[in-house]
Amino acid sequence: MNSLGIPMSHQYQIKEYCNICGNNELIKYKNRPHEMCTKCKSKSRHRIAYIVYSNFLKPLADKNVAKLLHLAPEKRLYPLLKDLFGAGYMPADANPSNFTHTKVLKLFFPKDFEIFPEDYFDVILHNHVLEHIPGHYKDHLNSFFKILKPGGLMIFSVPGPYLDKNTSEGGEHLATDQERVEKFFQKDHFKVFGRDFLEYISQTPDGVLIPDGITDRIRASCGVRPGKDPFFIWKKN
Ligand SMILES: [Zn+2]
Repeated sequence: MNSLGIPMSHQYQIKEYCNICGNNELIKYKNRPHEMCTKCKSKSRHRIAYIVYSNFLKPLADKNVAKLLHLAPEKRLYPLLKDLFGAGYMPADANPSNFTHTKVLKLFFPKDFEIFPEDYFDVILHNHVLEHIPGHYKDHLNSFFKILKPGGLMIFSVPGPYLDKNTSEGGEHLATDQERVEKFFQKDHFKVFGRDFLEYISQTPDGVLIPDGITDRIRASCGVRPGKDPFFIWKKN
């Protein structure tokens, strides 16, 4: 089972291939085999994101008209998204100086998000972002749901979630980085997501969760291990 409770298949030979740049060499990173492309430096989740975005965003991408908000905007996914959404592509982050590949709008959650009207974005993307935001994840998700258009998609991922436990939050109140590493596995992580996270996004009355369509055969084709890097795709009613 992977972290979403989906059975994993080990029958597929993992291919050393980066579907983003076409390179045939993937190396171990942080003890994860085949994790990083030696050429474009993509990690497994970028390669899966590339497929998920290609499949789900092309039908929504009305160039320069449809609006996409991309938080913590990954450099490797920029060419695809910019090509699809043109001037409608809005990369944003609380720390724009972390990004050099494009101009990134400074948006600090939650106060800066109030500049957007309700039902504004066609797409919101955030991968491994929620664990860095202080406060309660339900408040954060609700804020995102609000600024998404009916019929729009929010595509996102988090570490885990770990279905054998409940979500633990509050890392912003710990005194030291060491305490955060012990409790949340990284010095800038404020939470670890558990089964209630999956329940919450599966049961919101305002939208539905759509399967990401990524099989272990697809994972193996771009060097990703069975069951790894699941994405959530939430469609607003
Ligand atoms: Zn690559």
